Amino acid sequence: MPKAEKSRKKETELSEEIITKNEEISPGVFLLSVKRKHDFIPGQVVKIGIDCLEPPRIYSICCGNHEDELRILFNIKEDGYLTPKLATLIPGDRILISKPYGSFTGNSDPAFWIATGTGIAPFYSMFQSGQFENKTLIHGVRHLNQFYFEDELDWSLGKNYIRCCSQEQSCDVFPGRVTDYLNTLENFTTDQKYFLCGKALMVVEVRDLLIKKGIPYENIIAEIYF
Ligand SMILES: Cc1cc2nc3c(=O)[nH]c(=O)nc-3n(C[C@H](O)[C@H](O)[C@H](O)COP(=O)(O)OP(=O)(O)OC[C@H]3O[C@@H](n4cnc5c(N)ncnc54)[C@H](O)[C@@H]3O)c2cc1C
Repeated sequence: MPKAEKSRKKETELSEEIITKNEEISPGVFLLSVKRKHDFIPGQVVKIGIDCLEPPRIYSICCGNHEDELRILFNIKEDGYLTPKLATLIPGDRILISKPYGSFTGNSDPAFWIATGTGIAPFYSMFQSGQFENKTLIHGVRHLNQFYFEDELDWSLGKNYIRCCSQEQSCDVFPGRVTDYLNTLENFTTDQKYFLCGKALMVVEVRDLLIKKGIPYENIIAEIYF
């Protein structure tokens, strides 16, 4: 087996951890915590499973890299295998978890963070790890109660935190999808990185839009939740 493949296999081997908290922060959306055992780079992911019957699923780490606990943010897929079971777990229960890995990582340079739904997770990790200066965060959701961590983000990012809601309206919230918001902008900074995270459709639509607006392909970095 090639060396790189061997080391990736080792990184994604699962070990048992005890759940310390599993909180429903919005209807059907949970923040699950275990004790942090490994260092990670904000933006990285872990694999999570509960048994050997099904392959583990991948989740972005959703906490700062100096915190004692490691958290993930997930929403229940009613017809899914893992998430309905994860939602029933309580402190003291066990899950299987890999070491952190992945290359969707940022730094302190100015950048745009564009997310939909639980795709906010890696950006919240970067934010909580102190990488929020010179960042603009655009978060798209369907319902107003899906702006997870809204108070903290609003407090720290101010006008650089743009909320887009497609199915409900409120003051300070752009009415429509992330792509609708981006289409209202005239001048795009072309020499900064644009990080995109969420479902494939959003990532593809936003990437196409940014390319049309003149952003070089290499400045668009995507993490697709499939
Ligand atoms: C890099 C990465 C990071 C991710 N990070 C997060 C995160 O931070 N938070 C988060 O909530 N999710 C994240 N995801 C998604 C996550 O990995 C799971 O896919 C998700 O939680 C659903 O898991 P599940 O076992 O409940 O559903 P699954 O059993 O995987 O099913 C998901 C959907 O696919 C359908 N499906 C299943 N099998 C088939 C089939 N054979 N044919 C057609 N349809 C099928 C199901 O009906 C369901 O609607 C991430 C994914 C990736 C790739």
